[in-house]
Amino acid sequence: MTERINPRSGAAFKLAKGATLCVIDPEGGQVSDLLAFSSADPGEVISNGRTFDYEETIRLTIGNRLWSNRSNPLLEIVDDSCGVHDFLLTPCSEATFRHFYADKPVHRGCFGNLVEALAPYGINADTIPVAFNLFMNVPVDGEGKIRVLPPTTKAGDLIRLRALTDLIIGLTACSAYDSCGGSFKPIDYRIE
Ligand SMILES: [Zn+2]
Repeated sequence: MTERINPRSGAAFKLAKGATLCVIDPEGGQVSDLLAFSSADPGEVISNGRTFDYEETIRLTIGNRLWSNRSNPLLEIVDDSCGVHDFLLTPCSEATFRHFYADKPVHRGCFGNLVEALAPYGINADTIPVAFNLFMNVPVDGEGKIRVLPPTTKAGDLIRLRALTDLIIGLTACSAYDSCGGSFKPIDYRIE
């Protein structure tokens, strides 16, 4: 069954070892922040630094694995119709809105949505790391300068990730203007 995450909101759920999580951008142009914690001990969580180190790339797609802070692979990307994702930037938060969008209403962002969704699993704000930002378009130029551009996704683009251990997943429909091209859309997901 396909579930919908409404614009500017989030969800958390369990993903059993061997199951595949399919995340879909139903309208195109929407970012989704993904977190994965080990069910056995939520102190173990995805790490962008470990992942870049072991996968030897910052451009993660089919065949790449997402590694934990304890150097165990937690998820493997098994399908990816977009190929553009970000693992450099933290989830957008109230502070992000104050920093970049001073003329717009403050929103708790993906960070606030993840904190609320993950609280029932005993996960607190200070343990939330850099998320794997599905469909987020963050090019790095030759000088090291980064930009946040609209996603390249078209309606129905998707990514599939297989759980390599029992996981708690946090997932959002991103709330930040720049990452989503200035408007906010839902995100769909299903466990296969
Ligand atoms: Zn966000």
